[in-house]
Amino acid sequence: MTDNNQAPLRYPVIEMSRCSMCRACIDACPNRAIEEPTSFSCAKCVQYCRSMIAPCKPAKLIVCRERCDGCGRCVIACPELAIDWEAVGDVGPPA
Ligand code: SF4
Ligand code: SF4
Repeated sequence: MTDNNQAPLRYPVIEMSRCSMCRACIDACPNRAIEEPTSFSCAKCVQYCRSMIAPCKPAKLIVCRERCDGCGRCVIACPELAIDWEAVGDVGPPA
């Protein structure tokens, strides 16, 4: 969540099996919400750490939901189409 206190209704999800680790999404994010996990980055994003089923793996990118505003720049920037959306809010009935 960012300064406007309005949580986005969707967050990007990175499919690591498609990811080439080009880092374009990291560079594209205006909120520095995409990181390679370390104990430091996890400590900065408690919400992400709580969401983990298993411990972080080194070759994995994380989206820090506390900083993501759902702008979509990372989705557009990814050359491998490895980033999709996960709806987390009430987005209404399916179309
Ligand atoms: S949706 Fe926007 S703020 Fe969220 S991770 Fe992607 S580029 Fe960053
Ligand atoms: S832009 Fe796509 S391929 Fe590149 S690091 Fe991000 S998720 Fe991986």
